[in-house]
Amino acid sequence: MNVLVINCGSSSLKYQVIDSETESVRAKGLCERIGIDGRLVYQPAGGEKEVTDAPMPTHKQAIQMVIDALVNEKTGVIKSLDEIGAVGHRLVHGGEKFAASAIITDAMIQTVEECSELAPLHNPANLIGVRACQELMPHTPMVGVFDTVFHQTMPQKAFMYGVPYEYYEKYAVRKYGFHGTSHSYVSKRAAAMLDKPYESLKTIVCHLGNGASVCAVENGKSVDTSMGLSPLEGLVMGTRSGDIDPSAVEYIAKKEGLDLAGVINVLNKKSGVMGLSAVSSDFRDLSAAAESGNKQAEVALSVFSYRVVKYIGAYAAAMNGVDCICFTAGVGENDAAVRKEICASLTYLGVQIDEAANAKRGEETVISTPDSKVKVLVVPTNEELMIARETVALV
Ligand code: ADP
Repeated sequence: MNVLVINCGSSSLKYQVIDSETESVRAKGLCERIGIDGRLVYQPAGGEKEVTDAPMPTHKQAIQMVIDALVNEKTGVIKSLDEIGAVGHRLVHGGEKFAASAIITDAMIQTVEECSELAPLHNPANLIGVRACQELMPHTPMVGVFDTVFHQTMPQKAFMYGVPYEYYEKYAVRKYGFHGTSHSYVSKRAAAMLDKPYESLKTIVCHLGNGASVCAVENGKSVDTSMGLSPLEGLVMGTRSGDIDPSAVEYIAKKEGLDLAGVINVLNKKSGVMGLSAVSSDFRDLSAAAESGNKQAEVALSVFSYRVVKYIGAYAAAMNGVDCICFTAGVGENDAAVRKEICASLTYLGVQIDEAANAKRGEETVISTPDSKVKVLVVPTNEELMIARETVALV
C-alpha cells in the first residue's frame, strides 16, 4: 500500500509517499511559506529534486500541489490518487487522551482539539493539514500518530510536577514529552543493531535536532523524557531555552517590559544556542564561529553539550543503569564533535568512543569500542516510516 505521510506545521508541510510493502520512499518533499508566497519541493525516488515557486495561500492549495506533483505524467510516482491507500498524519499533542495512534474520525478530531490548549503552536496547524487532506481525499482512511503517545508509559513519579495536585486534576498540568515517534523508532533499531531483546534493554536516546530531547527507555517503554507539558522544557535547543528557573520569567518580564506571552516567546524563539551565541541556531554555523574564535559560540556549544551530559546522567540513575546510548536527528546524526564532547564526560559509565567510527555520518553505526561498557550508537531517525507503519497497522 502507498501511504502518504503528512507533517503539517503552521506555514510549512513535509510529505512522503512510502510503499508499505518494501518500506521504501517513493517520493518526498515539502511545501514552504504557505500563506506567504509559497514554494514546493518535490523529489521522486531516484529522480531530480524539483523546486517550484508558486502561490499557495492555503494548506489545501499546498496539498493539491503535492497531489499534482505525485500524479504528474513525467515525474509523478502514481497514476491517480486512488493509489494512495491511506494518509498518516503526525499529530503533536494527544494529552492523556491518547495512549496509541488512532484512526481519524470527527470524534477523534474533537478530542485533538481539546488538547490544543496544551500545544497551541502545533495541534491547530496539524489539524489544518488533516482537514485539507480530508477535503481532497474524502474516501481515503487517515490515521493520527502522536508525538506524546510513546511517553504515556512514564510512571507518575516521572510525569508529575511539584505543584498543587489539583492543577493536574483540573488542568492536566504534567509532563507529556515529545519526539515519541523518533525515540520509539531509534530505541527499537538500537536493540536490533545490538541483537538484544528490546524488552530487556536500558537505552537513553538523545534526539538532538533543532528541537532536542532525551528519553530513558527501559524494557521497551519510555520511563522519562526531558520535554514536558510543552516542547520547551529540557535541553538547550536551537532557539528554545530548555530548563530555566520559573522566577527568571517574572524577572525578565519586569526588566524587559514584556508580558508573560512575550517572555515565553523569547524562550521559544530567541533563546537556546541561537540566543546564547547571537550567531545562529545551526550547529554548522556555530562550530565555524567557535573555530574562528567567537567566544559566545563556544559558550553556546558547551552549554548545549553539558545539558545533554546531565540528562544522560540523570536517566542512567533513573533506570539504575544504562546499556546503550543513542544519538539521532540533525545534530546527533551529523555532528561528530558534539558527540565526542558529550561522550568525553561519560567515561565514569565506562563509555569509550572509537574515533574512526564516530567520524562516519548519517548511517547506523556503533561508535563505541568493543570493550566499552555502555554501547554508543548513531541511529538516523525515521519518523515518517514509523508513521507509515502505524497507519498501515490501523487501516
Ligand atoms: P528538526 O527536525 O527539529 O527541524 P533536524 O533534526 O533536521 O531538526 O536538525 C536540524 C539541525 O541539525 C540543524 O539546525 C543543524 O544544527 C544540525 N545539522 C544538520 N546537518 C549538520 C551537520 N552536517 N553538522 C552539524 N549539524 C548539522
